[in-house]
Amino acid sequence: MPWCGVILPLEHSYAQLPERFYARLSAKPGPLPQLIAVNAELARTLGIDPDSLKSPEALTLLGGRSYPETLQPIAMAYAGHQFGGFSPQLGDGRALLLGEIVNAAGQRYDVHIKGSGRTPYSRNGDGKAALGPVLREYLVSEAMHQLGVPTTRALAALSTGETVHREEAFPGGLIVRVAASHIRVGTFEFFSSRHDHEALQLLTSYAIARHAPHLLDEPEPIARWLEWVIAKQAQLIAHWLSLGFIHGVMNTDNCAVSGETIDYGPCAFMDEFHPQCVFSAIDQQARYSWGNQPSIGHWNMTRFAETLLPLLADEPSQAHDIAKSALATFGEIFHRHYLRLFRAKFGISADTTDDDSAAWIKSSLGMMADQRMDFTRFFRVLTRHAEAAEDRRIIDHFSFPDTAQPWLDDWKSKHDPALIEEMKQHNPVRIPRNHRIEAVIQAAYQGYFSPFEEAITALRNPYQEIEEFSHWEQAPLAHERVWQTFCGT
Ligand code: AMP
Ligand code: MG
Repeated sequence: MPWCGVILPLEHSYAQLPERFYARLSAKPGPLPQLIAVNAELARTLGIDPDSLKSPEALTLLGGRSYPETLQPIAMAYAGHQFGGFSPQLGDGRALLLGEIVNAAGQRYDVHIKGSGRTPYSRNGDGKAALGPVLREYLVSEAMHQLGVPTTRALAALSTGETVHREEAFPGGLIVRVAASHIRVGTFEFFSSRHDHEALQLLTSYAIARHAPHLLDEPEPIARWLEWVIAKQAQLIAHWLSLGFIHGVMNTDNCAVSGETIDYGPCAFMDEFHPQCVFSAIDQQARYSWGNQPSIGHWNMTRFAETLLPLLADEPSQAHDIAKSALATFGEIFHRHYLRLFRAKFGISADTTDDDSAAWIKSSLGMMADQRMDFTRFFRVLTRHAEAAEDRRIIDHFSFPDTAQPWLDDWKSKHDPALIEEMKQHNPVRIPRNHRIEAVIQAAYQGYFSPFEEAITALRNPYQEIEEFSHWEQAPLAHERVWQTFCGT
């Protein structure tokens, strides 16, 4: 298949690692998938001609129907702490790594296909994905990218023509996603739990060379790598909080060491603000609630640090000390970013001490929760109010209007009018709200994809006011509100 190198010039650096890092996969017979969407802008940044992804040859490849001899698709092995309990054997059970693509800037990206059928790691699963969750991941991951959050991205969505059986029968789907890599905390745990230090060393060297090559010149690259991963994770979670995003299933197998948001399952952007807000139907203990995400980030990083202990120093107590001091940076980095982001959202000046700002932000978020405010809408309305103080419509967003004026007066005393641009750049107009995604999915199940296409356009440039998409700004009406989200792929 000489065309393969033309469509996707793939490399296979991960597949050069020892065989115990993955399972090799072969093509399976079945119908050719049909293309639903190609992300032309992303394809171009990867040096791929978007039209070439529409060819029957590309569908043969993406559907896993036939692979050229040079292609080495694999399912990656990993373990993971799921809701606090350790599973030593997970891995790509419904996904595969087709290969890697290196763009003109020399950045390497995984090209990964989710919903591609059973692998040796599927356990009791069917390896498939329903179309709804595929469209959901496509929209939410692209929205996250447009919002400026590090994330895997969607290159294409396809329908498989097969039926996937969950609690009901659904049409099957595939998502082709692109990531800085799919190495997870759980990948390190896989080898650590097997006491395979040789593999741990190889994985660590590979991950550093791929994600933070500048650290290879440092005297203690592994300690620096641990700090690097911790810093990325702390920043990522501060970013999520600032947008009202709840990942929903931040298990260590869903925590990428690159610092990208990965595995969009039962995730959600909050409508009405509450710090303990949870959507995922399986998160009974609210482990992954909005406000618990920083502690979970630290918990996940502690599991990551544990895997590196044998590599950090020969002397166990010395390794522990290095890990401890790296972990101690998480809180400080998180708070610094959280403060910066929320100061920008409220448009309050950085003249006040960090402690005073933090206390004021906390009490203002408490006010927003008490008033049952829509998180995204309130911050954008505040931005409009800051631009035109005579705009009194902000009062409508308070459930108890009597309390509005004292809070607004207090806010005004802290607000710096020079920060309006900052406010605009940190308070999105449009987010992928659950009820809108639900409507897109229901339409797709009826065979209508125009709502999906509208969503892609509406979620582009999310910080810009666009009259045509003003309906995307609205919070859900009572009957539209989505209370729970499901893994469901
Ligand atoms: P998640 O937390 O949803 O990303 O998935 C956790 C683990 O379950 C991963 O190893 C997945 O590959 C696996 N998994 C989830 N759904 C399926 C499925 N339908 N078939 C096979 N494996 C699955
Ligand atoms: Mg996962």
